[in-house]
Amino acid sequence: MAKKDYYEILGVSRDASPQEIKKAYRQKALKYHPDKNPNDNEAERKFKEAAEAYEVLSNPDKKSRYDQFGHSGLGGQQDAGGFGGMSMEDIFSQFGDIFGSAFGGDFGSSFGGGFRQQRTRRTTKGSNIRIKVSLTLEEILKGVEKKLRINKYVTCNTCKGTGAKGGGSYHSCNTCRGMGRVTRVTNTFMGQMQTTSTCPDCGGEGQIIKEKCTSCYGNGIVKSDEILPVKIPAGVGEGMQISVNGKGNAAARGGVPGDLIILIEEVKHDKFFRDGSNLLYDHYVSFPDAILGCTTEVPTLEGKAVIKIEPGTQSGKVLRLKGKGLPSVNSPGRGDLLVNINIWTPQNLSAEERQLMQKLALSENFKPKPKKSSRSFFEKMKDYFN
Ligand SMILES: [Zn+2]
Ligand SMILES: [Zn+2]
Repeated sequence: MAKKDYYEILGVSRDASPQEIKKAYRQKALKYHPDKNPNDNEAERKFKEAAEAYEVLSNPDKKSRYDQFGHSGLGGQQDAGGFGGMSMEDIFSQFGDIFGSAFGGDFGSSFGGGFRQQRTRRTTKGSNIRIKVSLTLEEILKGVEKKLRINKYVTCNTCKGTGAKGGGSYHSCNTCRGMGRVTRVTNTFMGQMQTTSTCPDCGGEGQIIKEKCTSCYGNGIVKSDEILPVKIPAGVGEGMQISVNGKGNAAARGGVPGDLIILIEEVKHDKFFRDGSNLLYDHYVSFPDAILGCTTEVPTLEGKAVIKIEPGTQSGKVLRLKGKGLPSVNSPGRGDLLVNINIWTPQNLSAEERQLMQKLALSENFKPKPKKSSRSFFEKMKDYFN
């Protein structure tokens, strides 16, 4: 059987706006809604057909594929039995969007003989906890395990989280007769509608505690200090977040706990400046050392390294110590330590030193003669920031 055109099904033109498509579908859905057409197979078929058409035409991606290639543009998804694998549940779940929140997501859920009639316990989730952790560059280099003291909600030990005194004295909720949901019949513009919602009296649990636990006042959770060891990987940086599943606040009565979210702060280092996985270090050499050359020590995050200053080294030369920087959380290997050479200009001179300097100043070799090929500070900065 050839599939019908989706635009034809909804009775709209091919250039209909999303609003027009939505409106058309809304009309079809109301017309063929199973609650209005009990035991009418033809209506049910049309209802599903309209839902499928709307599924496609309301999704910009699917719509454009359909517009270009027709039904075959949607692959096998929409083909099974002429109905795109949408269950009644899928169809009804669209309805909150189509008909507004007045009907909720459960609009029409009485359809289908027991559909959604099983007790649905609402699952609550505990709240997340956010905590800042300060790390030194040394800790970031190796990764570190921190023992965090966290004041948070934990499951109440007295009642084991049930909230009930003496380990469980409940009675079934009268309002929903233990179902956790209540069905309401409302009169609407299209006739009587059944809507189902979470029971307001038991909060969807279907049962009510007879006598509340005195430790947690029936909540099933209490505040407590907990020491939590957390492994922080090497290479993290300022502002990164690490989320630890299930280590946040416990949820009231049988829900799932929230997450612990760790926000990384970096302690400023007194020697190094961090730039991504590279470390920058300012090193000073004396005037004679820069002229004559020398070997000298520079600090690293793990100790010291010896560097060689070549005779005639200019101020602003950068020496790169490969692999002496930080690891990265995203890639293997380590960054470099960039040593920026500064030449220390003496500021106080003895009379004798002054005379020596005056003598040297006359020498032709002491006159600045920068090579055209040596890149200027500005060029280097340009490279650096690109
Ligand atoms: Zn308790
Ligand atoms: Zn109830």
